[in-house]
Amino acid sequence: MNKVAIVGGGISGLSAAYFLGRKSIPCRLFEHRSRLGGTILTENLHGCLVEAGPDSWLAEKSWMLAFVAELGIADQVIGSNDSRRRTYVVRKGRNVPLPDSLRLLAPTKPWQALTTRLYGPATKLRMALEWFRRPSSQSDRSVADFVREHFGQEAVEYLAQPILAGVYGSPPETLSARRVMPRFVGYERRYGSILRGVYKNRNRNPRKPLFLSLRGGMGSLIETLDRRVADTCEIVRGRVRDLSRVANGWHLGLEGGSASAEHVILAIPAHEAARLINSAAPRLAGLLAQIGYTSSVVAALAYPRSGFDHALNGFGFLVPRAENGSLAACTWVNTKFDSRVPSDRVLLRAFLAGEAAERAATASDETVLSDTNAELRKWMGFGGTPTFGRVHRWDRAMPRYEVGHGQRLREIEARVPTLPGLHLAGNGYDGLGIPDCVRRSERIAAAIATP
Ligand SMILES: Cc1cc2nc3c(=O)[nH]c(=O)nc-3n(C[C@H](O)[C@H](O)[C@H](O)COP(=O)(O)OP(=O)(O)OC[C@H]3O[C@@H](n4cnc5c(N)ncnc54)[C@H](O)[C@@H]3O)c2cc1C
Repeated sequence: MNKVAIVGGGISGLSAAYFLGRKSIPCRLFEHRSRLGGTILTENLHGCLVEAGPDSWLAEKSWMLAFVAELGIADQVIGSNDSRRRTYVVRKGRNVPLPDSLRLLAPTKPWQALTTRLYGPATKLRMALEWFRRPSSQSDRSVADFVREHFGQEAVEYLAQPILAGVYGSPPETLSARRVMPRFVGYERRYGSILRGVYKNRNRNPRKPLFLSLRGGMGSLIETLDRRVADTCEIVRGRVRDLSRVANGWHLGLEGGSASAEHVILAIPAHEAARLINSAAPRLAGLLAQIGYTSSVVAALAYPRSGFDHALNGFGFLVPRAENGSLAACTWVNTKFDSRVPSDRVLLRAFLAGEAAERAATASDETVLSDTNAELRKWMGFGGTPTFGRVHRWDRAMPRYEVGHGQRLREIEARVPTLPGLHLAGNGYDGLGIPDCVRRSERIAAAIATP
């Protein structure tokens, strides 16, 4: 019997294998795709570096930089071009800049909130009055309710919804405020006002980039991990079909075989973990199955630079649901990071979420690219025909963290110890960003190493 089996070769599974290897604990990792990385995939197409999934991580999650340094690739870390950081939001068909230095939805320079064209005088007045709210502690509520209470409905439609749609692909009416914006909920409890909290805790070193990435793209993190785990982790290609308990551990039913291990780390989406453990632990499986996931589609389109009549003066734009588009967001890759696009090209990365992503899941690549091109032209107003495009579909890859997620997570965490040797990694629990996945896997490896 092996000591540890890991199911899933995304960042969660690979980082778990790495942290185990650091403690000289060997493992076997099962991945059903022909490549490692899960939603992390970088492609080099016609001289452009195209990220199929994540393109960076949040710099404030400082342990990620330490992890990357430990892997020996600190010299490959690059920051986003923050001197040109500006995000636009479509309002009545036009791109309006988000106030500079916006922390999610509250500007660190309050006067900017009062001069923006993104929302009207009534919302500005609410923002001014929000400064004087008294501290309060409330039970979990939706992001929409939370934001509406502080800033009004217009802020839900033109700030919270478009900003969060790109990350969670879910409407603010269902997302849990405690899970999705814990810092702001903390400010409400401590100061009463989010604006006051943001102002008091503002970044005093604003020149640090907001996003970090790797020169060769996020895929180079996966390549590095693949090399670093080679001595301690055997990678097995194939789908794990089910799990059952045996004396001292777990039996894994595989496509054409089986395996057993003392510990099993499920580094897969919660809905897939639910499917695997359904017969061994039906109640836990029931809880895991309640964690909703959304699908997303990323369409990257490249254009010749000559004749592309748009300044790309920012990192991209967001499309609020209220504007009735099929895109949730678009990244202007040329501006966000250096050296990803040759100087004679423009690369736009568009994100489809919600119903548009569901339609695109079954449409042909040609249809998705042609619809996306038409919509990009509508919102950005440029002329030009794409020279190439690429579509990536991510089926039920992003957890939704709906209202009640915290309570569900507590029930899950209480049930797992009754199943010795079972560990839940991945993005379904306490954070969906790459750094959160790495940190959860590190904790699991530490727990296995010190029983
Ligand atoms: C479009 C998009 C953009 C994103 N942008 C960012 C960003 O900019 N920054 C950021 O920090 N995060 C971003 N994220 C989120 C982040 O990428 C993910 O949360 C994270 O990569 C999840 O990693 P994971 O290893 O937990 O899961 P996954 O990447 O989903 O990997 C799970 C792996 O398990 C395998 N698997 C599943 N079931 C089985 C089975 N039964 N047997 C064997 N193998 C199995 C799958 O094939 C897959 O390889 C983005 C996500 C998406 C989809």
